[in-house]
Amino acid sequence: MDVVVAALTLGFGLIAGSLVTMLVARIPAGIPLTPVSRCPICHHHLSLPESLPVVSWLLCRGRCRHCGNPIPWSVTALEIATAVLCLLVVTQTEPGGWLVLPPLLLVVSLMALIVIDLVHYRLPDVIVAPAVAVSLLVMAVLSVAPLGRPIAVVQALVAGGAVLVAMLIPHLINPAGLGFGDVKLGLLLGVHTGWVGASRYESWSAVGRLTFWAVLLGMLLGLVLAGLLHLLRRVSGKHLLADPAAGGVGPVPFLKTPVPFGPGLSLGALFIVCFPQCIMG
Ligand SMILES: [Zn+2]
Repeated sequence: MDVVVAALTLGFGLIAGSLVTMLVARIPAGIPLTPVSRCPICHHHLSLPESLPVVSWLLCRGRCRHCGNPIPWSVTALEIATAVLCLLVVTQTEPGGWLVLPPLLLVVSLMALIVIDLVHYRLPDVIVAPAVAVSLLVMAVLSVAPLGRPIAVVQALVAGGAVLVAMLIPHLINPAGLGFGDVKLGLLLGVHTGWVGASRYESWSAVGRLTFWAVLLGMLLGLVLAGLLHLLRRVSGKHLLADPAAGGVGPVPFLKTPVPFGPGLSLGALFIVCFPQCIMG
């Protein structure tokens, strides 16, 4: 991969990571989204140099210039993780080509959704709905040029709809086990796994296979993450990553408390989007 493309991707990823940290901090708290960055502790408006991801953290030695409080390490870690994932999808897609746009959109929206679901047990429509709409719009343009296969966007939409319907059934049977937020997230994930099958392999069969394995892998990862969380709660005796709406802290009965399922589903789909060759050969 070209060094310039890698540097540009990392730069874009860090700025996107900064956007992710803003979404994570503001949307669950109901704070309006504005282009102005704020200190996460004292909420002081930050100047442009103070807002530069990672660089500002290094320059200010991890502290806010206004209140002197340490900036949570999770903010910088989230920016770096977003940048690394952006680099991964670009290296796995088509470095320098327009087809990198849909997976980049997916990474940015999923990073925000994963963190919000882990902490708040929510998958906000205000992120999922625009992510689906913008993804389909970008795919519609790309399917005409450079792909020259207008049906590709239809295939992505059909895959998304199929996942939505497939996940709606277990949700209707047991709403407490699989939330409606997860069902709507399934639409976003299916659109993207379908798009990989449509744009790279140009067949309905690839669309179906990649989407099926993404859902299966996502469900498995969701169960593994849930098991790990239960185990950590049991060992520590603490209500780690508790549902804030349920409240309550203390000893946790095994398999009796809810766990967020969105992160597992998201990671499963991200894996298939980055490494479809694992399924398609
Ligand atoms: Zn501050």
